[in-house]
Amino acid sequence: MNTAQLIDGKAVAAQVVAEVREEVSALRAQGIEPALAVVLVGDDPASHVYVRNKVLRAEEVGIRSLEHRLPADCSAEQLLAVVEALNTDATVNGILVQLPLPAHIDENRVLQAIDPAKDVDGFHSENVGGLSQGRPVLTPCTPAGCMRLLKQTCGDLRGKHAVVIGRSNIVGKPMAALLLQADCTVTVVHSRSLNPQALCRQADIVIAAVGRPRMIDASWIKPGAVVIDVGINRIEEDGKSRLVGDVDFASVAAVASAITPVPGGVGPMTIALLMQNTLTAARQQRLNSAAAPAIAEATCLSTC
Ligand code: NAP
Repeated sequence: MNTAQLIDGKAVAAQVVAEVREEVSALRAQGIEPALAVVLVGDDPASHVYVRNKVLRAEEVGIRSLEHRLPADCSAEQLLAVVEALNTDATVNGILVQLPLPAHIDENRVLQAIDPAKDVDGFHSENVGGLSQGRPVLTPCTPAGCMRLLKQTCGDLRGKHAVVIGRSNIVGKPMAALLLQADCTVTVVHSRSLNPQALCRQADIVIAAVGRPRMIDASWIKPGAVVIDVGINRIEEDGKSRLVGDVDFASVAAVASAITPVPGGVGPMTIALLMQNTLTAARQQRLNSAAAPAIAEATCLSTC
């Protein structure tokens, strides 16, 4: 029986973190201290855990972190005022508003208020548009992490047929855009797709981002395909609570050539890529601020 290669997200994430740490240390030696601000609204326990992990990882790589906590009943205006203050704070390079927000706050309005240059989650429409045009922009962390895993596993992705299962703004759509940028042939499958299983069976690469425990079993997978499981689902099984992916790992590992586990696959990559995005934002802001006086001077010479 074939047993797929395990794609070790923890090990690759550790490589990304080590690269970021080295580059942050080089920036610090020049007197530049990258900083990430995380905004947390309310008391959702899972959100608190995610924020704590992000802050700890930032400290580990030498990125200064700031936490802003607001009560669950805060108004949209109060939250927007915090975002605006962070936008204008030149010492802050990255802003992340932890989702989900309480139901009375329009998530999209808040995400659009973040300065696109500091939008380390890559959710602002300017970054979304840039990604779809193939411009170098801040890219959502989870799909960017999947791309790194794929490149390290497959090498050249050109011409491969990738099927993305799921079309959310956070994972499925940006994932499809990144695969297209890498010259894959991309099919996106969603809840209204006809015969998704047959479409998926044509894929060299399968990305599962559905949110349904173990939905994708071996009957969806072409022998030798590479399978990336983005899903994180908590289930009760044999009297225990456990995390499982959208892929039925045991059956798919028997036909795929490589597969990510859950946990320990895509999950660790998401935070690592957040650190990478914060570093990229800090570098880009530095370049822009160095260019700004020169541009102002040139404008003055041509108009004064
Ligand atoms: P989402 O917003 O709920 O989107 C799920 C997508 O799956 C939707 O596009 C939906 O189609 C599609 N879908 C649902 N049932 C389907 C079916 N039977 N056949 C085909 N497509 C189906 O979820 P998400 O935010 O993208 O997250 C997906 C999973 O990834 C979740 O388990 C989440 O916890 C996990 N996740 C993990 C990370 C990480 O760091 N590892 C990060 C983000 C998310 P429609 O659009 O037609 O409804």
